[in-house]
Amino acid sequence: MAPILYVVLPCYNEEEILHMSAEKLLEKYDRLLKEGKISPESRLMFVNDGSRDKTWQIITELFQAHKEISGVNLSRNRGHQHAVHAGLMTAKEKADVVISIDADLQQDIEAIDLMLEKYNEGCDIVYGIRNDRGTDGFVKKVTALGFYKLMQIMGCEVIKNHADYRLMSKRAIESLSQYNEVNLFLRGLVPEIGYKSDVVYFDVRDREAGVSKYTMKKMIGFAVDGITSFSIKPLQMITFVGVVVLLISIFMLCSTIYDFFRGNAVAGWPTTVCSIWFLGSVQLISIGIIGEYIGKMYMETKARPRYHIESVLWKE
Ligand code: UDP
Ligand code: MG
Repeated sequence: MAPILYVVLPCYNEEEILHMSAEKLLEKYDRLLKEGKISPESRLMFVNDGSRDKTWQIITELFQAHKEISGVNLSRNRGHQHAVHAGLMTAKEKADVVISIDADLQQDIEAIDLMLEKYNEGCDIVYGIRNDRGTDGFVKKVTALGFYKLMQIMGCEVIKNHADYRLMSKRAIESLSQYNEVNLFLRGLVPEIGYKSDVVYFDVRDREAGVSKYTMKKMIGFAVDGITSFSIKPLQMITFVGVVVLLISIFMLCSTIYDFFRGNAVAGWPTTVCSIWFLGSVQLISIGIIGEYIGKMYMETKARPRYHIESVLWKE
């Protein structure tokens, strides 16, 4: 039986592009239906993320005109990640499988076929990965690269060049729903879930209408959110700095003792300098130790699920 597919599209002030995107998706929907790849109960689900323009009005009109379209309206702007999450959680009630994609369809919808194929082969999560960054401007390219590098250094596992264009099975979304954290960073959370997953590659296009809703401020906020939601490495770095300072203080001690015996030392100077460095390192290491505990507490407060069971072999 063909699966019920829901395509979730977060929309924030997208009045200029909604009609165009809906048209393309409806075409795609018809083709997938004809080829028997999806069930007729499948839907295109537009999530209005508190837009200030006519986005919700357009979604309502599209809903009235096409039975394939449904809509979710958030009470206010909560940001891309929350809009996707709201869509996934609403869609999981009815869908077998959900694909999230940006409403501007910069990501190639032809990859949907391949994602469904992988799903049929038994994958619970299929990540869409962009082929290159040819269409991006210099600033976007550099910031994106910097973002992945920083995430890597900070110990947050994200899939490179993957941006929330992904397929998730019903049970993968059920598992995602068990993460109650308020600071949502789906790109980090979804790989945490596990299950069999795969990737498909797609090309990125320029935006056909409207402007990017990701301002520099939002992008920096996103990166900070990603790091602070996933990693306690910044806290652990304090201990590392403390140890480095401790080594410096030992070096200082040796060199002042050497100077002292050679008779070069100024009275009072060695004790003052050595104490400053040594005390500094003691303080940093102490803060680091407290940081370790705070990090543990922080992780505990998230109350993440400990595991997800993929399958059980059972004999009566
Ligand atoms: N978006 C959203 N809420 C926001 C910002 C963006 O739902 O607060 C949606 C937006 O409508 C689009 C997707 O997130 O469907 C990606 O945004 P955009 O295309 O502006 O980002 P870019 O492709 O430039 O990174
Ligand atoms: Mg876009």
